[in-house]
Amino acid sequence: MEADSTTFENTTKNNQDEDFLPFTVCPGNFKVYKEFTGNSGEKNLETQIVQKLQNIGLLPRTIQCPTALPDCKVVSKAARVIDRVQWVCQGCGKRQPIRSGSFFMKLQCSILQSLQMILAWCEDADCDIAAEYFKVKPKVASQIYDRLDELAVLEQSKYVLGGENSVVLAEMYPDCLNRLSPDTTDQPHVHRILMLADTNHIPTHYQLYVLKDDLKKNSVSCTDNQSLTAEIEAAVSRVTSPQSIVVSGSSVPQLAGASSVQQLLQHCDPDMQYFLSSRIWRQAISLCAASRDFCTSPDVTSGVACGVIAQRYLYAALYRLKHDDGFYHHLLTVIAEYFTDK
Ligand SMILES: [Zn+2]
Repeated sequence: MEADSTTFENTTKNNQDEDFLPFTVCPGNFKVYKEFTGNSGEKNLETQIVQKLQNIGLLPRTIQCPTALPDCKVVSKAARVIDRVQWVCQGCGKRQPIRSGSFFMKLQCSILQSLQMILAWCEDADCDIAAEYFKVKPKVASQIYDRLDELAVLEQSKYVLGGENSVVLAEMYPDCLNRLSPDTTDQPHVHRILMLADTNHIPTHYQLYVLKDDLKKNSVSCTDNQSLTAEIEAAVSRVTSPQSIVVSGSSVPQLAGASSVQQLLQHCDPDMQYFLSSRIWRQAISLCAASRDFCTSPDVTSGVACGVIAQRYLYAALYRLKHDDGFYHHLLTVIAEYFTDK
């Protein structure tokens, strides 16, 4: 009796704690998280989570027996394992983890903890703080963050801006600074970043592309630099739909087939002029500024090119930005698409 009431109290307390996570959570993301991790009281929580994840394809609903004998037939059964349920072959007796063929395979933590770390990543929470709060080993937590960063790079790098009748603006960071926004950080500029903005979306959809040509080696003004212009044109054609109207900003070299921002502004009212020439870049500039931190990070001194790390950060940040409060649900479906065996 005593033990049961203690257990009950602990459960209640844990549920309350979840409402005070050590990072900010968007309400939509939190609602989805609660749908997956809330306890309906039937069976144990682990089994409930497994069923919900099978329903949205994050875990396979069926699995083959590797022994592959004629009478092999795999069913899920309750078991004394971390997931509380596993696959068992009724023919040959072979057991397999319920998370076989999924994102969760080989992660040294519970499925619930994985879902918690995915939420933390969605909210751009500090990995160590989230890991400590959810009691996930730091190494496992960073393994989850790395997998999700890679997924963000795959998804965001193939995202194409613009389309028929839509205007894509191009600007160059840091060349545009001081004209558009004061430079307030102490960090040196190492990279030029091509900023592309699709004017058809609210909030604005961007692509931010770290140029290989680095500023230490090449400080020539970017408007009269042929190799830079070629690299920019290649990047623009890769991430903008060919039907788009590309508009070069004042800090970008005149690109083949592009109009100039002055031509565009002639047709706009003053509010629109302000938006297109300044306001639209605010969020992109703050991400570019934040990416400069990676040029002085410890990973860089260990030999990884900082442009690569800065680009990875920008892809993940843009991916979050684009999906806003629907991100957790979106990301779970993308994880299912990439990782779950069909
Ligand atoms: Zn079998």
